[in-house]
Amino acid sequence: MGTIRLSGYESRMAYKFKEDLSRYADRVKIDKIGNVIGTIEGTDPEAPNVMVFAHMDVIGFVISRIEPDGFLRIERVGGISEKIVQGIAVMVGSENGQYFPGMIGAKAYHIQSPEDKAKVDPFSSLFVDIGAKSEKQVNELGIYVGCPVTFAPHYVEMLDSRVAGAYIDDAAGLTNLVQIASIISDQRPRCTVHLVGTVMEEFNARGAMMAARSVKTDMAICLLGPGAGDTPDQRGVNNVVLGGGPAVTMFNFHGKGTLNGNIAHQGMYQLLKKTAQELDIPLQRSAARGALTDTAYLQLENDGIPCLDMGMPDRYSHSPMETCDLRDLEQVGLLVAGFLASVDRNFNLNRY
Ligand SMILES: [Zn+2]
Repeated sequence: MGTIRLSGYESRMAYKFKEDLSRYADRVKIDKIGNVIGTIEGTDPEAPNVMVFAHMDVIGFVISRIEPDGFLRIERVGGISEKIVQGIAVMVGSENGQYFPGMIGAKAYHIQSPEDKAKVDPFSSLFVDIGAKSEKQVNELGIYVGCPVTFAPHYVEMLDSRVAGAYIDDAAGLTNLVQIASIISDQRPRCTVHLVGTVMEEFNARGAMMAARSVKTDMAICLLGPGAGDTPDQRGVNNVVLGGGPAVTMFNFHGKGTLNGNIAHQGMYQLLKKTAQELDIPLQRSAARGALTDTAYLQLENDGIPCLDMGMPDRYSHSPMETCDLRDLEQVGLLVAGFLASVDRNFNLNRY
């Protein structure tokens, strides 16, 4: 979970994830764009093959300017709110792959004017402090414009099997992929399964497309759960709760200038629902505008790839303290493994 991995800089995570998958998969490769693809052969070559994926990258920033006195100006990568970043710990990467701790500067409360207290500072006015005194000192560390900055990795265990930290989006999905690999390598499903750690989801949500082209997948499951609606500020937004089990996204739509999203493939959804009933795993449902995943683009590949978004619900997504319930996490892996066991050559890939 703690491996630093801004979009476009996933290599450390990719090699680590490749090692993890190699314990179970028949073969693992890293494609040209950086996706890690582990394949577990099924027992029936006539059954459709399934790609199950989660993204390896995390949100963060790039350095946009280095001040003469050593402070770093930043541009965001992915959806990060200005409201949550002042005063947080970050890691700044150099061109040779070293990371240095720092923080995003925050004006002390007692010197803030009443106007300061009421307003949110734009990213253009924020800066990172790594303790450097000059641009020259920063450059000598190998840090230049374009270098990556991410939330500092950390992880805490809370009450009742709940945990919080940076990078749970989508360390959760990657954890499920290893869990699924361990189950299905032992009890082979009929379908061949490609377990994929993808790149650049937080940047352009298209890394999974390249993996699907490479393995020529017949259908795909994106392991990325929806946000839960069970906090005081989100109550009533949806029915999804932490600890309520895996959640499937029936509908999502970005709706912020991007005309894309995914409407769950009914055949896949019905099989997931049936599997959940058989395994006695609760299944939550979400339908909302505002977000999309790689499936938005993946579904348009080949002659149309049936796709399903599902996973563990979370709270405080894209903050340094994303929160989830480990019981949900475990159930997601069990449910997907059960789904894979049910896919056979008669599965209807068509929309109707
Ligand atoms: Zn995300």
